[in-house]
Amino acid sequence: MKKLTANWTGVITLLMNDTPIAKLDCRLYSATGNPKPLSLSQVHAECLTAVKETKKAKEQMGGKGKEKISPQVTQVRHEPYCPKCGRFLKTDEVSRAIETATGSVKITEAEFATLAFTPNKAVTAKLFRSDGAVAAIGVDRRFYVLPRATSLEAYGIVLYVLGATEGVGFIEEVVIDEKPRVGVLRLLKFPKVLFGHEDKVLVFDALIDTGSLKDPRGFPDCSQAIPALANKSQLDKTINRLAGSLAAIDPEKCIDPRRQQLAMLARKKIEESISRR
Ligand SMILES: [Zn+2]
Repeated sequence: MKKLTANWTGVITLLMNDTPIAKLDCRLYSATGNPKPLSLSQVHAECLTAVKETKKAKEQMGGKGKEKISPQVTQVRHEPYCPKCGRFLKTDEVSRAIETATGSVKITEAEFATLAFTPNKAVTAKLFRSDGAVAAIGVDRRFYVLPRATSLEAYGIVLYVLGATEGVGFIEEVVIDEKPRVGVLRLLKFPKVLFGHEDKVLVFDALIDTGSLKDPRGFPDCSQAIPALANKSQLDKTINRLAGSLAAIDPEKCIDPRRQQLAMLARKKIEESISRR
């Protein structure tokens, strides 16, 4: 197992209303990384080793024949280099490859062309109740969905149906900015704290490229080592007493902490300048 580097180390205290339930001393690790496997790379066609672009200093004689007095000219060029064979490669020695868990697989340009996703102007969105799969993968990019003037009635229907069913419209493939995406249409209620007004908005949430998601089994499995809960009956009592009165998340708290601090600092400065007058 590769050495894992935590992005955050600290204690998370779980509060039920204001009662501390557990203090979790923990570390946070990024769940996404470079897309792997099945990423495309350039390889030396002969040995399938990933090619490195390396500077090659090419020495050229400034003059010919007897004119040995003229200085040597050194030209630096970027050329593909195979670290395994230890030599620079010609352009026709370089091939594309798909990296798999067991090694690189060479693919020809003709095969590569068949992989191209053509921009699609018509896609279907199938209605599902939003379930765990979408939440588990997570949102990579969000887009606002706006209707053309001729499509306002359909827009109204979509908003109504998504609202009434609390469902999402699942889109299996849509090419956006040349990148094929999978994602969901959903109706969101933006809290007032964001833009000063409460809004229902139709968005397309493109999911994270699953190739960049790290397999959780790459992290130590702690679930096996959990001891039996000693104070489970006490815990159940607390749950029964408090769980029914849990509040919704305050949207004010959802703002990026840095923005909150800046706003507070600005407010303080303004107050100071007023009191000095
Ligand atoms: Zn090689």
